[in-house]
Amino acid sequence: MISRREILAALAAPVLPQGVEILNPRARVPLSWIIDDSTCLVNLNRFAIPQFADAMGRDRYPQDWRSMPHEIPDSFVRRFAEWSREAGVKGKYSVVPFPACTGRLDREVPGWTRQEIEDSVRLVREQVAPNWDIHPEMITHTRIIDLKTGHPVEQRGRAWMENWEWCAGRSADEIAAYIAYALSILRNLELPCEGVTSPGGFGAGALAEYSLAAGQAVRQVFRAEIPHYFRNLFDKGNESVAPRIEPGPVVSIYACTGDWTGNWDCSREPEPDRYISADLKRGRMVEVIERGEPAIALSHWTGVWFNGRELGFKAMQEVVRRLDARFGRAVRWMKLAEIARYWAVKSLAKVTLEEGGLSVDSPYDCPDFTVRWPASSLRRLREVTSRAALEPGAWTRDGPAHVIACVPLRKGLNRIG
Ligand SMILES: [Zn+2]
Repeated sequence: MISRREILAALAAPVLPQGVEILNPRARVPLSWIIDDSTCLVNLNRFAIPQFADAMGRDRYPQDWRSMPHEIPDSFVRRFAEWSREAGVKGKYSVVPFPACTGRLDREVPGWTRQEIEDSVRLVREQVAPNWDIHPEMITHTRIIDLKTGHPVEQRGRAWMENWEWCAGRSADEIAAYIAYALSILRNLELPCEGVTSPGGFGAGALAEYSLAAGQAVRQVFRAEIPHYFRNLFDKGNESVAPRIEPGPVVSIYACTGDWTGNWDCSREPEPDRYISADLKRGRMVEVIERGEPAIALSHWTGVWFNGRELGFKAMQEVVRRLDARFGRAVRWMKLAEIARYWAVKSLAKVTLEEGGLSVDSPYDCPDFTVRWPASSLRRLREVTSRAALEPGAWTRDGPAHVIACVPLRKGLNRIG
């Protein structure tokens, strides 16, 4: 077992020279929206809830799953994708590869024709993926799959569900093989993937092993340079919600809200005010943006669609309108992979103050590295008159004695100034 303390010690970040500060990308607070429990066509809840009830008891899962539609239609996915493109909203969208054991998306899903599934996958690949990272949410989001047979394991109960403590006591290699199986289904579908999402509490009891396994599996199957995963959130309080760089490295992304767009099972009316209030003054997103940390919201696809009433979708649209009205160009929507890359560079790059500028030794490319330091002017970049106008290749003055520069970094040694 690797302890949390050992992980942190292994990642002692390089110390920045006095007066140098790495800012948010383009000096704007990153926003992102995490969508869980989506897949192609299958309404996950309709099929998952009886399996949850079997493992955890009917009293904990009293939802009337028999009355739920089997399908979340592609016409809705298309409208959602169009809206996100027009509004510039970005984030993560799950594609559960073998949703609730109904069938593998790359083989056969009973209830739909092969053509319907292929069309649905293409819709995700062409319309959704440009603005949304695609993640598997393990294999089924319900029963553990025996990787040798491809069927659910014989054992039943909560220890044999992906949502609970199956990982406890298992090695990073064993967990990585499980995650790689999920990823390989998405690879067969030609869906690009740089991260994974934990269904429920997947990883519980083996957090360090799970973190290593997520990085290992994403590197192995997709050759991703900077793998990331989503498992954790703080929906209140002062704890940092910035991404954490863990050994591998792999980036752990934190959401900063609960699901306030209807909950995973459509059990609550959406509460957009909890993200940002109608008068634009309060709410968890406002709190985190004012702190200057990436503000990453959370929803479940099932509640976004809300059994056809689209209540979660309406709430999302309202929240995005309010964020834009309040913050405008002080914020910027980014995919999780973009945020992960920035934070990996921010944590691992070595910055040195030199005569007339900075040198930055970066482990990765970074398209919009933004840094503030004491200097009077820069010669080789284009000067802009405000922070809001910063873009790669530009610099601006910040008070009498500082400059802020935004530059595309290349992997290796860079000179800014
Ligand atoms: Zn989920």
